[in-house]
Amino acid sequence: MVLDLKKLFRGDGVEESAACELDFSGVELGGAKPFCAPVKVQARMRSFAGSVDFRAQVAYTLSMPCDRCAEMVVRDYEKSFVHTLVRETQNEEDDRLILVPEERLDLDGLILEDVLLDLPGQFLCREDCKGLCPRCGKNWNEGLCACGAPAADPRLEVLRQLLEKE
Ligand SMILES: [Zn+2]
Ligand SMILES: [Zn+2]
Repeated sequence: MVLDLKKLFRGDGVEESAACELDFSGVELGGAKPFCAPVKVQARMRSFAGSVDFRAQVAYTLSMPCDRCAEMVVRDYEKSFVHTLVRETQNEEDDRLILVPEERLDLDGLILEDVLLDLPGQFLCREDCKGLCPRCGKNWNEGLCACGAPAADPRLEVLRQLLEKE
């Protein structure tokens, strides 16, 4: 969806809003397509001193495999993103500034970027997910396997060996 910002840039204090659903179902992430449901966007814009203050409430659902046990997890998110839209800038470094020289905003592109930048570094089914057994592949969240207890933290193991030597 492309938003026409001409009216907003015409004067100070002009307000506009837009509500829409974006389809990101084709977006691939690490081999999966996590956007299983339409992404709901409510955007509010207000012009001020030759720029436009842009605020978006974004509600989306991610369906992704857990990084440790690979179980599919479906989780809802609600986030807000704020940007300043400008027609020109001397400060290319400031990534809050979004350049819209044609006074048109590619809403899909902006929201997709916001959501992708906001993804958690690690996606877990639960905080203390025990993961899979590296030997037999059993999901340790469902109980231990015949291979025995989960291996100790490798960093602690190194420490233990050092202490034993001394
Ligand atoms: Zn997990
Ligand atoms: Zn095992």
